[in-house]
Amino acid sequence: MTDGITAYGSMNEHIAAAAIKAGRAPESVTLVAVTKTHGPELIRPLLEAGHRVFGENRVQEAQGKWPELRKAFPGIELHLIGPLQSNKAREAVALFDVIESVDRDKIAAALAAEMKRQQKSPKLYVQVNTGLEPQKAGVPPSEVGVFLKRIRHEHGLELEGLMCIPPAEDQPAQHFALLARLARENGLAVISMGMSGDYEEAIAHGATHIRVGSALFGARS
Ligand SMILES: *Cc1c(COP(=O)(O)O)cnc(C)c1O
Repeated sequence: MTDGITAYGSMNEHIAAAAIKAGRAPESVTLVAVTKTHGPELIRPLLEAGHRVFGENRVQEAQGKWPELRKAFPGIELHLIGPLQSNKAREAVALFDVIESVDRDKIAAALAAEMKRQQKSPKLYVQVNTGLEPQKAGVPPSEVGVFLKRIRHEHGLELEGLMCIPPAEDQPAQHFALLARLARENGLAVISMGMSGDYEEAIAHGATHIRVGSALFGARS
């Protein structure tokens, strides 16, 4: 797995360079290593190198590999970056430290109930559908402020950040700028945006969390 470690090393250098170029501290950007579809044999080398922040897009898949890795490597921070169904809220609250895909009242209600029941408070981000794509999850940009207020009042949930996945066919810059502006307007410190192909641009626009899979682990089959 020398390859994975080499990619990880150069990724950290690229992140630091992009941050400095944007006048930001390299530590202000967190790399969420996206391990969906990959097994522990690809994940372990990163854990052994000291990396602790990972992302998965499916609850069930994450349940199959992370409990064991957590036992072996203390301090893991696991992010759910894929859509969440309310009937999976129990498992999601039990397994994840950060849930990036809150986008509906029903999900917020289910999460609030589970967080109370389990006495566990994963950090929560709102997914924003910056491209208003009908097939994509996320709150429309114009409704983010109202959504945040409503789930604060109705469920007592404080959300920490915003997340987006720009349309594949668009230049990502306009979407990154929009998400950063929405975070600023709503007083949110966390901005999760940027993937393998565009993380440097996301950092230039203020991303605090970038979600990178294939640039670290190779193409997914
Ligand atoms: C898979 C995935 C990523 C990582 O994508 P790469 O292009 O492999 O870096 C980032 N965010 C989300 C929500 C994903 O599902």
